[in-house]
Amino acid sequence: MPNTSATPTLSTLADSISSLRPNDDIQRYLQDASGLPAKGEPAIVFRPATPEQLADIVRACHKEGRTLTIQGGRTGLAGGAVPDAGDVVISLEQLTKVEEFDTVGGTITVQAGMVLENLCALVEEQGWYFPLDLGARGSCQIGGNVATNAGGNRVLRYGTTRELVLGLEVVLADGTVLSMLNKGLKNNTGLDLKHLFIGTEGTLGVITRVVLRLFPKPERRYSALAAVQNVEQVAQVLKLARARLPELSSFEVMWQSYLLAAGEVLKKTPPFQAQYPIYILLETESRDSPQAAAALEEFLGDLLENGQALDVIVPQTHEQAALLWKFRDAIGEILREIQPYLAFDVGIPLRSMASFIEIIGTRLSQAYPNAKNLFFGHLGDGNLHLSTGPHVEADLLIVEELVYAEVERVGGSISAEHGIGRIKKPFLKYSRSATERLLMQQIKLALDADKGLNNNRIIDV
Ligand code: FAD
Repeated sequence: MPNTSATPTLSTLADSISSLRPNDDIQRYLQDASGLPAKGEPAIVFRPATPEQLADIVRACHKEGRTLTIQGGRTGLAGGAVPDAGDVVISLEQLTKVEEFDTVGGTITVQAGMVLENLCALVEEQGWYFPLDLGARGSCQIGGNVATNAGGNRVLRYGTTRELVLGLEVVLADGTVLSMLNKGLKNNTGLDLKHLFIGTEGTLGVITRVVLRLFPKPERRYSALAAVQNVEQVAQVLKLARARLPELSSFEVMWQSYLLAAGEVLKKTPPFQAQYPIYILLETESRDSPQAAAALEEFLGDLLENGQALDVIVPQTHEQAALLWKFRDAIGEILREIQPYLAFDVGIPLRSMASFIEIIGTRLSQAYPNAKNLFFGHLGDGNLHLSTGPHVEADLLIVEELVYAEVERVGGSISAEHGIGRIKKPFLKYSRSATERLLMQQIKLALDADKGLNNNRIIDV
């Protein structure tokens, strides 16, 4: 445990560590991408330049009984990075260094504030590959990705962030530094403590350093867009693609209303001239070879011949492929147009997907005819996104209850990848039993008895 007698006070630390007060320009530290409004202003925003400075701030907060909000890139969609009035905010934006890059074994140790896109680019320069990929790649930080156990576009092949993390360094609520910078793939030496901090959204510790597992850089990506009639066909194409394309890395699905909304915000005409009910964006990662291209084209040809797809597009250039992905990644821009919105991120068993979409789509369009209901998602993982809005504030809770009750009925999850944060806290009961919730509370109190760290997220204690 830390020697708190020698701990500098917060006001001393504010003299030596980059910090902002409410009369500075702190607007951007009040919000994340969820759109949840802040309840007030934080007392101070710290931007430590080293993990050691960060630990000093946490230690001082613990000693002075202050509550802390941890901020990564603030792209979270569950309101977890939004501070409470009077909080001490710690932004990790200056913790961006690479600490060790093992280009022989394929691991990298980085500070937690490194932006995901920068991390991916720098490992690729050395012929390695970090496969995590999501629309917020240009702003989200690897520490935030670990804290939320981010999923994204390539879970089908590489798993969620949890599967990509080998080791962590974490600052606990009292300022103790817990170093678990393991670099091996295998390490069966008792409790794997890093998992306490992966996906727990900063409620149990602040992640300061991350050791990641890398993969050889694929030579090439092959993308294609297939149009299908209904969810049953989506399921058929998914099964066939998994069987015939071992290098399949993405299987993203967009309903027609989503594609049209994306076209509007991007000011681009949709990829097909005709309109179809559902679109599947597929990607494989492999060697750059005529055989790899032919395998995908043959697969798509068979889909058309067997009536399992209505139409397909195979981009001929990198730019054409990138444009297809622009449609899939346009959700950030779309959300700005439908405020106030609700962005659901549910896990639905594939066998219940069609009826879930039919029931929820019908109920929402009958009750809220002026709202757009946009379905899309990482269907290869059973992860459906629904963005709906604009809604009047008074209806938000009613819409959430409507969707989550149906999620519970089909045995799904109220959050497949975005996390619970503040926004989904009241609905945790729809996905986790009373016994599970009690254990979560006990673990929180065991690690943070004073409830100083990212309190009021995930579960009340
Ligand atoms: P923040 O938003 O800053 O924080 C998220 C939570 O983690 C908060 O509770 C915060 O307190 C905590 N936290 C942040 N950093 C740390 C740290 N170092 N230590 C401890 N706790 C910390 N998510 C997906 O999973 N898949 C997607 O495909 C996806 N697509 C997206 C597309 C768009 C356009 C947008 C806007 C968001 C998307 N997201 C997606 C959500 C979001 O990008 C992820 O949740 C991301 O991992 C959050 O990272 P961040 O650095 O922005 O974290």
